Amino acid sequence: MRLVYVLGLLSLIGVGALWCGWYGLMKRRLAAALAAVCVFGGGALLLLAVLPTYSFYGPTVTQHSAAGKSVALTFDDGPYPPYTDELLAVLQQNKVKATFFMIAENAEKHPQLVRQIAAAGHEVALHALQHRDFLKLSAAEQQQNVAAGKAILEKLSGAPVTLLRPPHGFRDWSVMATLRHNGLTAVNWSVIPRDWTNPGVDVIVSRVMEQVHPGAIILLHDGDSPKYQDSRQQTVQATQIIIDKLRAAGYNFVTVSELLAKGE
Ligand SMILES: [Zn+2]
Repeated sequence: MRLVYVLGLLSLIGVGALWCGWYGLMKRRLAAALAAVCVFGGGALLLLAVLPTYSFYGPTVTQHSAAGKSVALTFDDGPYPPYTDELLAVLQQNKVKATFFMIAENAEKHPQLVRQIAAAGHEVALHALQHRDFLKLSAAEQQQNVAAGKAILEKLSGAPVTLLRPPHGFRDWSVMATLRHNGLTAVNWSVIPRDWTNPGVDVIVSRVMEQVHPGAIILLHDGDSPKYQDSRQQTVQATQIIIDKLRAAGYNFVTVSELLAKGE
C-alpha cells in the first residue's frame, strides 16, 4: 500500500467532512473533529515515512547498540570520482572497512571503482538504481529500480547485496514490501553530520563527535546525487579526522553487516 493513496483518502475524508458540516449534513463540531483527525493522522503518517529512525512501516535499521564500541561508516550516492578514489585511499591507509550505498547507474559508469571497493573488503550496498524519491514511485517502478540496481551491483562486485538505504531514507508500506520481496534490509542512520551541504571539515567532524554512540551508523557521502557537481573534498578530509578521533575514543570500524552480526 502506498502512502500517497492513504494521504489522498484522508484529504478527501477531511474535506468531505468539512463540506458536510458547512451544509448541515453533519454536526459542525463532529465535522471539525473528523477533519482534525485526518490532518493529524496524515501528518503523523508522513513524519513516520520521512524521519529516519522509525520502524512503523517495517523494520528499519538505524544503529545496533549491542555492537559495543563498534561503529559503521557509510557513504552514499557514489561511486563519484575522484572523491570515491580519494576516500578509498584514506580508508586503506587507516585499515578501515566501510559500507558504500551506491547508485547503480553510477556503478555502471565506474565498474572499476565498484570492483576496487569490493576487493578492498568494503561492503557494497544498494541506494537505488537512480536517486529518486521512492514514495513518488509506483510499486512496479520501485520493484524495477530495486531489482535492477541489486542485479547490477551484484554483477559488478561479485558479492550478494543484502542492504538498501532508500533515497533520503524515505519509506512506506510499499517500499518495505519491495525490499522484503528482494531480500533486502532497510538501513538508515543514527549519526547525520549533513556533510552533503559542505558546511566545513571542522563542522562535519564536530557533528559526528557530538552524535556518535556505541553501535552508531554514520551517514556520509562520497557522491552528489543526482547532480554530480559538488565537491566531496570536505567529506574525504573529515573522514581522516573522524577515524583518528573515534579511534582515540576507543571506537573501531566495521561494515554495516558486521555491525548487525555483533552481540547476537
Ligand atoms: Zn542519497
